[in-house]
Amino acid sequence: VPLPIASRWGDKVTDPLNNSYYRATANAWDTQPSFVGERDYDVAVIGGGFTGLSTALACAEKGLKVALFEAQSISFGASGRNGGQLIPGLRWSMREIDAEFGRERAQAIFDLAYGAVRRVNDRISQHGIDCDLKPGHLEAAYKPEHFADMQREADFLAREFGWNSEIVQPQGMGRHINGGGYHGGIYDSRGGHFHPLNYAVGLAQAALKAGVEIFEYSPVQRIDGDRVFAEQGKAKAQSILLAADNWMGDLDRELGGYTVPIMNYNIATAPLANADELLPSDAAIADSRFVLNYFRLSADKRLIFGGGEKYVQTPPTDIAAFVRKHMVEVFPSLADTPIDYAWGGAVAVTMNRLPHLGRKGNVFFAHGFSGHGALVTTLAGELLAEAVTGTMERFDVFAHLPNRPFPGGRLFARPLATLGLLWYALRDRL
Ligand SMILES: Cc1cc2nc3c(=O)[nH]c(=O)nc-3n(C[C@H](O)[C@H](O)[C@H](O)COP(=O)(O)OP(=O)(O)OC[C@H]3O[C@@H](n4cnc5c(N)ncnc54)[C@H](O)[C@@H]3O)c2cc1C
Repeated sequence: VPLPIASRWGDKVTDPLNNSYYRATANAWDTQPSFVGERDYDVAVIGGGFTGLSTALACAEKGLKVALFEAQSISFGASGRNGGQLIPGLRWSMREIDAEFGRERAQAIFDLAYGAVRRVNDRISQHGIDCDLKPGHLEAAYKPEHFADMQREADFLAREFGWNSEIVQPQGMGRHINGGGYHGGIYDSRGGHFHPLNYAVGLAQAALKAGVEIFEYSPVQRIDGDRVFAEQGKAKAQSILLAADNWMGDLDRELGGYTVPIMNYNIATAPLANADELLPSDAAIADSRFVLNYFRLSADKRLIFGGGEKYVQTPPTDIAAFVRKHMVEVFPSLADTPIDYAWGGAVAVTMNRLPHLGRKGNVFFAHGFSGHGALVTTLAGELLAEAVTGTMERFDVFAHLPNRPFPGGRLFARPLATLGLLWYALRDRL
């Protein structure tokens, strides 16, 4: 994924993909200097999204001397652009995880994946992060058979893992959403939504306070042994932690083959007078289509809507129009509502939709959260920090998840993956 030109914090936005509501409403942040010269650290973290920031903060809390390199501004990538939906768990249902890995491993995966909710909440309260956190997530069934399957999963989670959520019958959906014609859903009060960029800014501020040296506009050009080469200098670090998600391939060719970028687009409407009618419980909502629609209200009552995805990198000529048609399918009354912001980003998706964590000598990495990264990345950063300090147990639960590169190498991975994804998208329409 090429890095588009970054806009400096507060400057006029020059990247059409980054004209986000989040950037326009970001909390104050002092741009950090670029990396210059030669310095030694215990740990060098590459990438300043949720994963890298959480890693750096957790390492500093363990007393390590940490440098964080971000190619652009903090949370320039997916972490500063996502839907802000806090969805407990991974892309696989717990029934699938249980069937594939057996109960003991499933329990360990559950403890981490669902425990990730608490870690984000704890970070927000511990550091007083002002990020519009709201409770409540609803998964809405696009087809009746999706609702039947959701109920089976909710029952299984409650019975086997003690994770209780609420089954919302079709006639009860009006409590959460007026629109969409959904066939029921599952409401999870422990899920929710937040302003992702402001969460990242909060983590970055906490990291600075904990002693992390953050370098912005400092793309790492290569790593070699215990050296990290930036444009204007090099750092030496005992451990190198890669958290560059979609850009991992620039640093390690092999790792780049484990994900493909799926472009995803979001809009924010003008503030809505009838926001509370559309989404009375203020929950975040994601539907069960393969190419899902996901939406929620912002703190100032805009509808933030994500819908439609593209398997080629070129953005639609009019992002707002591209997403609007999906929004209007759910909320026809918004056909003429002004759209104030439209933006996009790449979701790094692995072959099996499970995150890919691991270690190569002194290099540790975490990427490929496959559209489910808003919660799990904070935990993943903490697992990386545990791993560099020699505690592998929890890290290994994720590192042992099966993952393999896309077949066909870097050249053919994308077209092949695209064909597969188009097939699933087509099934929604059948
Ligand atoms: C449009 C969109 C909507 C999404 N919606 C949701 C959602 O609602 N809920 C959810 O759970 N997940 C969602 N996701 C996924 C989620 O945002 C990601 O899983 C998560 O943010 C990944 O965080 P990260 O820190 O690993 O990667 P990123 O946030 O992408 O961070 C990687 C960072 O590395 C930097 N970098 C790259 N190369 C270098 C280099 N050579 N040197 C230094 N720095 C480098 C980049 O600039 C970037 O800032 C969405 C993603 C997108 C794109």
